[in-house]
Amino acid sequence: MAEKETLAANFIENAIREDQKEGRYAEGIHTRFPPEPNGYLHIGHAKSICLNFGLARRFAGLCNLRFDDTNPTKEDTEYVDSIQEDVRWLGFSWDDRRFYASDYFPRLYAYAVELIRRGKAFVCDLTADEIRKTRGTLTEPGTESPYRNRSVEENLDLFGRMKAGEFPDGSHVLRAKIDMASPNINMRDPVLYRIAHADHHRTGNEWCIYPMYDFAHPLSDAIEGITHSICTLEFEDHRPLYDWLLESLGFDAATRPRQIEFARLNLTNTVMSKRMLRQLVEGGHVSGWDDPRMPTISGLRRRGYPAAAIRDFCERIGVAKSNSLVDVAMLEHCVRENLNETADRAMAVLDPVKVVLTNYPEGQTEYLEAENHPNRDGRRYVPFSRELYIEREDFAEVPPKKFFRLKPGGEVRLKHAYIIRCDEVVKDAAGNITELRCSYDPESKSGGATAGRKVKGTLHWVEAQTALPAEVRLYDYLLRTGDNGSAPEDFLTALNPDSLQVITKALVEPSLRWAGPGSRYQFLRKGYFCVDKDTTPERLVFNEIVGLRDTWAKVAKE
Ligand code: ATP
Ligand code: MG
Repeated sequence: MAEKETLAANFIENAIREDQKEGRYAEGIHTRFPPEPNGYLHIGHAKSICLNFGLARRFAGLCNLRFDDTNPTKEDTEYVDSIQEDVRWLGFSWDDRRFYASDYFPRLYAYAVELIRRGKAFVCDLTADEIRKTRGTLTEPGTESPYRNRSVEENLDLFGRMKAGEFPDGSHVLRAKIDMASPNINMRDPVLYRIAHADHHRTGNEWCIYPMYDFAHPLSDAIEGITHSICTLEFEDHRPLYDWLLESLGFDAATRPRQIEFARLNLTNTVMSKRMLRQLVEGGHVSGWDDPRMPTISGLRRRGYPAAAIRDFCERIGVAKSNSLVDVAMLEHCVRENLNETADRAMAVLDPVKVVLTNYPEGQTEYLEAENHPNRDGRRYVPFSRELYIEREDFAEVPPKKFFRLKPGGEVRLKHAYIIRCDEVVKDAAGNITELRCSYDPESKSGGATAGRKVKGTLHWVEAQTALPAEVRLYDYLLRTGDNGSAPEDFLTALNPDSLQVITKALVEPSLRWAGPGSRYQFLRKGYFCVDKDTTPERLVFNEIVGLRDTWAKVAKE
């Protein structure tokens, strides 16, 4: 598997190297990331970003950011802003090469006029429905439009009037004149321009005709001097049109851009389409595009996923030529691996039960030294006194077999502190445990006479007086998966009702008082957590990033 992955990871690089060997693109490799600003970017886009910017880096070339904003009704500057923030956060820079397809509207219009002059495009009066009906099928050719043989003069006149706003939406389109009998339906006189009397977020009402993606994209690539136009597999059948347009407009085959397709990223338990993600946001199923359960880059960032872990993931999955489904556990594995190295350790008790050390002096507090990370030098001091909290699930009155946590008469070590023994269980009238009365071994802390004494369990804890109240948000997958592990078609019915669990009564150690939004910690024995932007001076809010248990390492071994 590993070998196949490395080979697959190289097929685009191999194509580029071939081009270089043949002396094409002598001025250097130039790629672009071309989002449509109609939603927030998701982890699938991260793959495309890492690939395009990564190729530029590997070949000492350049990568542009280009907004593919040819669809005025769906696009917005909010999306433009979020996309730039996300690309930057992922660690990439487009320098001063941020472009908009809408910047090229005048040039694209001139190219369309040139196509008409060359007899390769015509204005068609058929309705969208009629065009669809005459397109033919996979087995039957289409029928030629009755307007196909208009003279160049008539086409130029009509196209000019389309631009001048003389016609209503849908009344005319500009079509390429290619071949209605082509086995490739994309080549059957495809639409290049449509009329849309709509305000564009950048050009306002300057234009009332807009180029189609298939027309705007190759020409934008050519205008920018892109050498390799990397896109997802759905566009494989559009490549002949991509080449036809550039060819027809006289772009030199040796230097013009070349389209290369790769398989899009699909992840288990994950919705990977802006349209569906927008449905989740607009339907109120999540708190917004940056809800930490969302697979958007802004959601993952808020959740606490490090950018480096996402880049690492994109590197490891490689690029392939056929579609496949990646286990989301692999992404989590990359996050966990990163955080294990980078995140400081701390103690937090999510479901506290009080422990009173009956033989510890009243009114005394001591500060115990604790390492911040097992492989680094940082230290902090953790207060310890007569009253503490431990995790309710770390005590069992009637312990099951092999229960190495606290039980009546049993001993455990408190991390960075002493060994304690449970002497008495205090309950309220309803039978709920309210307090555990314990005694501690004063010689059992680091440096003490019985410091080396071994007990089976070690628990995390916080000191009662100094612990900080915190809200902790635990997450599960937003989606339950379909049979093949991917998101089902009717994905809203597959929403996991338990994807968010809010714990309001958690307690964390006082060293976290100044932890700002975005700081990440490993809460000992609990998992990795990130301070959320909802944190206030009164109350810390944490997002669960990922648990400690690595399900991917297990899967990968099998
Ligand atoms: P969606 O289907 O989610 O709406 P899109 O392809 O319409 O995505 P664009 O803004 O057009 O979104 O995409 C920008 C770039 O990101 C394109 O080059 C596209 O091929 C790439 N991309 C989008 N989704 C994925 C994915 N799941 N895996 C890899 N690349 C992707
Ligand atoms: Mg798109």
